[in-house]
Order: sequence, then C-alpha cells, then structure tokens
Amino acid sequence: MSELKRYERPIITKQYSGFMNKFGSSPITTPKTEIDGIPVNQITEKFGSPVFVMSERKIRENQRNAYRIFKTRYPKVQFAWSYKTNYLEAVCSVFHSENSWAEVVSEFEYDKARKLGMKGEHIIFNGPDKSRDALIKAIKNKSKIHIDHFDELYMIIEITDQLQLKADVAIRVNMDVGVYPKWDRFGFNYENGEAWQAIKRIMANKNLKLIGLHTHIGTYMMSADAYRIAATNLALMTKSIRDEYKHLLEYIDMGGGFPSHNTLIGQYLPAEQVVPTLEQFADAISTGLFALSLPAEELPMLILETGRALVDNAGYLITTVLANKRLSAGKRALIIDAGVNILFTSFWYKHKVSPAQESGLYQEDAAIYGPLCMNIDVVRESITLPSLKLGEKLVIEYVGAYDMTQWMQFITLRPNVVMIMEDKSIEIIRKAETMEYIAEREVLPAKFAKNK
Ligand SMILES: *Cc1c(COP(=O)(O)O)cnc(C)c1O
Repeated sequence: MSELKRYERPIITKQYSGFMNKFGSSPITTPKTEIDGIPVNQITEKFGSPVFVMSERKIRENQRNAYRIFKTRYPKVQFAWSYKTNYLEAVCSVFHSENSWAEVVSEFEYDKARKLGMKGEHIIFNGPDKSRDALIKAIKNKSKIHIDHFDELYMIIEITDQLQLKADVAIRVNMDVGVYPKWDRFGFNYENGEAWQAIKRIMANKNLKLIGLHTHIGTYMMSADAYRIAATNLALMTKSIRDEYKHLLEYIDMGGGFPSHNTLIGQYLPAEQVVPTLEQFADAISTGLFALSLPAEELPMLILETGRALVDNAGYLITTVLANKRLSAGKRALIIDAGVNILFTSFWYKHKVSPAQESGLYQEDAAIYGPLCMNIDVVRESITLPSLKLGEKLVIEYVGAYDMTQWMQFITLRPNVVMIMEDKSIEIIRKAETMEYIAEREVLPAKFAKNK
C-alpha cells in the first residue's frame, strides 16, 4: 500500500486575468524602480530620456565570474574583449582593467584599442577586412593577426618580404560543429583540408610565426557540445602541428558566441531556462582541449573572445511613454521614445521590459512601438503590461551588447549613455548627440550657401 500523502492546508492565491501563471511567466510585473541602487527617475531627471545606463559593477562581476569558471577547468585562460559588442571607451576600459585583451575586427576598432593604450601584442586582429596599411601597422606592433583567407595570407607574405618584417599569425578555422547554417564564410575550412593548406604555407615561410588557431563558430550558440567539437578539432590540429613540425602553438582561441539571458523572438521559454550555463560551455571546451594530452607546461593558452554574455545584462535603456493607443482591432499599443534606431536588438530579442514605477494590478497585452515614423519600428510585438500613463517610464533590460555599436542616428539624435560606477556615482560615457555634431560632418556646396 502506498503511503498517505502529507496533509497540507489549502491556500487561496489570487489570480489575475490576462497573463500566464503557475506554468508560465510570473504573474505580476515587478517594477524596476532603480538600477544599482540609483532611482530611475533621478537618472532621467539628470540625463534625459531615453538614456542608456551601463553598470560598472555588473561588467566586473560578469568578467570575474567567467574567468573563474574557465580557470577552474583549464590552467591557462585569457579573455579578449570583443570590441564590436560594445566599444564605448569606458566599457572597454573596465574590461581591460579586468585583464582582458582587445579583440578587434576592423582598423577602426584596432585604432580604438591602441588609443586606449592596449599593447600591440594584446590586440587580436580578426575579420575579413584588413587593408595593407592596417596589416603593416598590426605587424609592426606585434599584434596577433588572425588570417581569414588566402589573399590576406599572400598579402602578409608580400608585406613581410618587402619590409623585412616578422609577423605573428594565427588562422581562423571554420568547421562543421553540428549547428546549421554553418558559418563557413569566415576563415579556412577544417574538413576539406583548406586549413591545413594554410598552415603548411605559413610554416614554410621564415617571416611568419604561427602562434595559434582561432575559431568563432557563431553567436548566441545554444549548444555547448558544438564547442566541445570545435575545441577537439583545434586540439587535434595543434597536435598534428607539433608532431609534423615540432612546433608548439601558444594558444587556441575559441572566439565568442555564448548566449546572454535575453530571450529570442520565437523562443517560448525564458532564456535562463533554455540556454546552457557558462559552466557547461567551459566544461565542453576544456574537455575538447584536454584531447591534447600534453604536459601542463606545453598546453596552449585558451583565449576567449566572449562579447554578448559578458555585457548584455550590464546595460539598461530607460525610456518614456509618449502615448497610449488602441489599434483598429482593439489591441493596446504604447508609443515610447526609444525605437529600433537605438534598440537594434529588438529585431531578434524579447527584452525584459518593466515599468519603472508602481502601477495598478490590471494588466493587458500591448504592442510597444518606437517614435520613428516607420512601420518596422516595433520594440515588442506583444507583452503584458499594467496601464501606464504618459510620461511614465519603462526600463528595458539586457541591452548592453550590440545596441550601442549597431544603433543609428536616423531621424533623431542618439541619447546619453551613462555608467553607474562602483561607488554609485554616475558619469556620462557618451554624450547625447547634438545638431552641431551631425552638421559638422556635412558640407554645403557654395552655390547653396546663400539659402542658409
Ligand atoms: C562578434 C565576435 C565575437 C563576440 O561574439 P559574441 O557572440 O558577442 O560573444 C568574438 N569573436 C569574433 C571573431 C567575433 O566576430
């Protein structure tokens, strides 16, 4: 006979209409009234709306946590901050002060890293577009050049030959890791032997030193096992290079691509419940690398170029309600002062959006539109929110990655970006644009000048 279940006193829980409960998202929208202890209203009073807010504390916490997770699983770990994810100087500086190198994908980013004082050898130069001048600069600075294609390799061979220089290079390798569509347009292919061909040409050249192997298998990757496969393949190549040439590589660079906790459009469950943890990625990568079975002192350093997963949750966007509307079919719509021009990631994320003040219990499904005069300016197709009055604020979370680099000025000006420092002071880290800032770049041909 089965045991009797323990008696529990029944409880009555008040249910609210219009949203999921018990099996779905939490029933009540908790307001987000402060960021890092600073009241949202205080921020907008001083810096306007919309305004991006970065948290220094959160960035440091993310970086330290990630380092610890990898370092406990593999003995030599180095992070390199992915500039294109967020290259505001203050943000990069926080990462650099946490010992991250710079990972850049253009000459513009390269110059930015140098301007911030990064040593040449601590800059990883990725990407398919490296001009001759950019390559010469990077070679002279002893930066780590990750070659993307044969034409780039030949250009480096020619430059080093002509100018009598030595270059530290690695190659980017692409491969089938069981995730489709494959990212095979960057780097040299593993399966068809192209990568090995590139290695042979580098090893045969006295001016080039092969220092590492690199891969970046995708972004917002949902599979930890894909990283195990990639790490294993690069470890096997490292071993082949050692066996064939008696040459030890300094590092294996696994790129970026770990997801943040932003939920993708079309993803039913919240991201925290479906994306692998950093621990799982670290387990997968270290398992792959240990396929090398080399003595500890010969193990290559593991480089990680994690972007999104280290900064997304350190960014907030405070925005103001401009209007409430009813669409023709009766659905509620909100118009806010931040659109897809500054929140590019709303094309693929269902961001967490919370009212910044206490509101009533009544909730209703709503669409959120930005201020642009364009039909595609949809910040959110559908979200359950309490009623909000004109002038009330919303806080959009997880906007630290890619929004501040992919944003566009379009019909308005980009807003202030501030950083809440560890000591709770607030600093502007990018000033709101002005008419003069935009006009400064324009040139009015003389014949129109009289109209001015
Ligand atoms: C964009 C990029 C990264 C960072 O990717 P995340 O998905 O933001 O982690 C790292 N390495 C390379 C080569 C990249 O192009």
